[in-house]
Amino acid sequence: MTEPKKETRNTKQRNLLIACMKENSNRHITAEELYGLLKEKDSRIGIATVYRNLKMLEADGLIEKLYVFDGVAPCYKMLHNSCEHAHHHLICKSCHEIIDFEDDLLETIEKIIELTKGFTITDHRLVFYGICKDCKEKLKHQSDDAE
Ligand SMILES: [Zn+2]
Ligand SMILES: [Zn+2]
Ligand SMILES: [Zn+2]
Repeated sequence: MTEPKKETRNTKQRNLLIACMKENSNRHITAEELYGLLKEKDSRIGIATVYRNLKMLEADGLIEKLYVFDGVAPCYKMLHNSCEHAHHHLICKSCHEIIDFEDDLLETIEKIIELTKGFTITDHRLVFYGICKDCKEKLKHQSDDAE
């Protein structure tokens, strides 16, 4: 019988971080937010550990990093698998809500690029800025009231 390998503190914290990212895989969270959530589970965890692990996971293609606005901290989200193309993002300029758009829709463009440039596309980042449905409703009511 072999003794199970003792988990190092680093591995433990890394696994905790991954579990936490998975729990929150329905939204994009900042490193600070993630740090706050991890602190509740392991008070010894440091912000540097959080950044280091996020960087590693990003390099492995397991999470996406998204810069929403200039000067605002990036947010992260767990991906389903490492070879999946990034989903697209719709970002509301009014309430800063990030809405995922899961369909790739770029297959035709990707084919054209591959054919004309001999360039193999493995991923892409596409962000659409605009006004979300809720904000549009609010703006509509505001203008109705003004009349
Ligand atoms: Zn694609
Ligand atoms: Zn909005
Ligand atoms: Zn996303």
